[in-house]
Amino acid sequence: MTDAHKFIAIDGPAGSGKSSVSKAVARRLDYGYLDTGAAYRALAWHVLEGGADTADAEAVRSAASDFPLSQQLDPDDRRVLVGGVDVTDAIRDPRVSAAVSGVARVPEVRVQVNEIFRRMVAESAYPAVVVEGRDITTVVAPDAPVRILLTAAPEVRAARRAGELEGSNAAAVAEALHKRDASDSSVVDFLNAAPGVTVVDSTHLDFTQTIDAVLAVIERAFDAEKEPHHG
Ligand code: C5P
Repeated sequence: MTDAHKFIAIDGPAGSGKSSVSKAVARRLDYGYLDTGAAYRALAWHVLEGGADTADAEAVRSAASDFPLSQQLDPDDRRVLVGGVDVTDAIRDPRVSAAVSGVARVPEVRVQVNEIFRRMVAESAYPAVVVEGRDITTVVAPDAPVRILLTAAPEVRAARRAGELEGSNAAAVAEALHKRDASDSSVVDFLNAAPGVTVVDSTHLDFTQTIDAVLAVIERAFDAEKEPHHG
């Protein structure tokens, strides 16, 4: 395990507020920020760009074997590039959202991207990096000093997502989100907290309150680390 102590691991389903909260926390603490979902999305884009379907595991493996991803850890630089092509906006396209679970379902691909994530964090100059995704607390960095599961009631998550997308039909957004969650949660369980993972439920919290709740968990974890061990 590489530099697990540099991970602030945050998992959660789509629409839990994970990305915006993680970014805000990173800015507040002067930490790096890594959106692992963006890497999976970039790979899905790469598969589609090659004319293949992400339901085809072999095509996904082949695209992953030549995947020149470039992603920064700066919370204010959200650009994602694949082989020099700026895909920052394209990876948010509903076409990519609908295809991404196919990529996430291929075990060898998960192993490969996890290595990329661990290397990025280990090589970064930041004292710590807020890494958000679905399996960061359980697979990518199970030894991280801070592990949080950010949840929210399904209807609240769907409403938040619908609000993010201009002119979208709320019911269609909710349906797409639930479909993606169902598919994703058959690969990794991000709806239940693993032992030692702290749950922050944002159902009844606004954005600022959610940031404060996450910051409080981080502070408590670091205070506990500093305390001398007795016995
Ligand atoms: O977080 P976001 O919704 O952008 O993630 C996009 C997709 O990437 C998820 O639906 C899931 O299929 C995949 N993913 C994953 N493991 C992660 C992060 C994202 O499987 N750690």
